[in-house]
Amino acid sequence: MKILCHSCGKELPRGSLKYVIEIKSFADFDGYLEEYPGDVEEGINDLLDAIEHADPGSIEQEVFEESIFILCKNCRDKFTKDPFKSGKMVFEKLEAKDTIH
Ligand SMILES: [Zn+2]
Repeated sequence: MKILCHSCGKELPRGSLKYVIEIKSFADFDGYLEEYPGDVEEGINDLLDAIEHADPGSIEQEVFEESIFILCKNCRDKFTKDPFKSGKMVFEKLEAKDTIH
């Protein structure tokens, strides 16, 4: 089975330098709960109702999702500098995650 770079499609033969990119995205909680407009009890019932009818997998995805990609060195270097091609610098270490302990 051939391994191809997820980004540029270059073939990555056995023994070649390749990088695994694991992307974990999870819902952050900043300690602030938006006030529910209307009756709280009714809101909870609506929520429970929605959960009951939703696919458990999709609820889980809302909260946490993990993706794995294989990249060649060139694409890895580009990705780590600017993963979303936004032209912005990446955050220094954990400064963006200060609500997570
Ligand atoms: Zn590549």
